[in-house]
Amino acid sequence: MSLRDSLFNWDGMANSLFGPLDPAPNAGYDDPPARKGFFTDTSICIGCKACEVACKEWNDVPENVFAMLGTSYDNSHSLNANQWRHVAFIEKPAKATPPVDLGMPTLGAAPNDVPEEEKPDFQWLMSSDVCKHCTHAACLDVCPTGSLFRSEFGTVVVQDDICNGCGYCVAACPYGVIDRRRGPDGDPSVGIAQKCTLCYDRLTDGQRPACAQACPTESILFGDVEELRRTANDRVARLHEQGVMDARLYGNDPDDGVGGTGAFFLLLDEPEVYGLPPDPVVTTKDLPTMYRRAGAAALALLAGAAVSFVGRRP
Ligand code: SF4
Ligand code: SF4
Repeated sequence: MSLRDSLFNWDGMANSLFGPLDPAPNAGYDDPPARKGFFTDTSICIGCKACEVACKEWNDVPENVFAMLGTSYDNSHSLNANQWRHVAFIEKPAKATPPVDLGMPTLGAAPNDVPEEEKPDFQWLMSSDVCKHCTHAACLDVCPTGSLFRSEFGTVVVQDDICNGCGYCVAACPYGVIDRRRGPDGDPSVGIAQKCTLCYDRLTDGQRPACAQACPTESILFGDVEELRRTANDRVARLHEQGVMDARLYGNDPDDGVGGTGAFFLLLDEPEVYGLPPDPVVTTKDLPTMYRRAGAAALALLAGAAVSFVGRRP
C-alpha cells in the first residue's frame, strides 16, 4: 500500500489533503450547487483594469499605493490585502507568436508593411490574477478561528469580523495571495486577513462576481468549474490550431499539488513569467505524517518514563 493510500485509510482528514475532490460536499454540504469558479483567458486580456476597479468598488477595498514598477506599466504590483485582483503587465522580448484575433470590430487591418527594424522588440503579457480558491486550501486548514470557510459554492471565503490576525493563513498559502492589512492605528480592518471572496454575497444573490461582470473582453469567465474546464481545453486547442503554441492552462489539473484550483488560467508563457509558482503544493499536505510522528514520539517518551519509573529501586 502506498504512503498516500495508507494515509487515506489512516485518517479521514487525509481525504481532504490529497487529490481530486469536490470541495463543498467534502466540507459537509448536503446537495450543494455545482462548484463555481473562474477561467481567466489571459490571451484576450487588454489590461484595462476594470476588474481591479470593480472589485474595489463592490468590496469596499481601500486604495493601494499606485506607482509604476520600474520594469513595466504595472502600477498595482501584486495581490495583497488592498488588491484582491491584480492585473500584471509583463514586458518581455517579442517572440514570433502571431497576434490573437479577438473578433472585435476594427477600422481595418493593421498595416503589415512596417519595416522589420521598426517593429517593437518586446511584447506585453497581461493577466488578471486572483485567489485560486484551491481544492485543497492550506489557508483554510490552518485557520484556528474558523474565519476562513469553504462555501457551498466550493469557494474559500474569509470573514474579517472573525479573524484574529494570527497570520497562519498568510504563511500557508502556496501562492502568496492572502495578506493582513496594514494601515493606521484605529482602523478595525488593520491586521486582519484579506483576499478575494469570489464575491460570496453576490453569488448568494444569484449574481456574477463584480470583476467578471466588469471585464469587457470576457477574459474573466465565471461559471461552473467543470464547464469552464471544458471551455478552457477547447480554447487552448483553438489557439494551438492558430499557431499560438505557447498557450497552456495553469491550475486546471485536479491531479496537481493543490487538487486543481477553482480559479484557473490560460497563460501564454511559463507560470514563472507571470509570477506564479510552477508546481504549487498544498502546504498542509504533510500534516497527517507530522501528527503521526509526533504521536509516536510522545508515546515513546511516555513509555520511557514509565519504564524508568517502574525500574526504580524501592
Ligand atoms: S490561493 Fe491561497 S488564499 Fe486562496 S484558497 Fe488557495 S491557499 Fe487560500
Ligand atoms: S470575485 Fe469579487 S472579491 Fe474576488 S476578485 Fe472578483 S470582484 Fe474581487
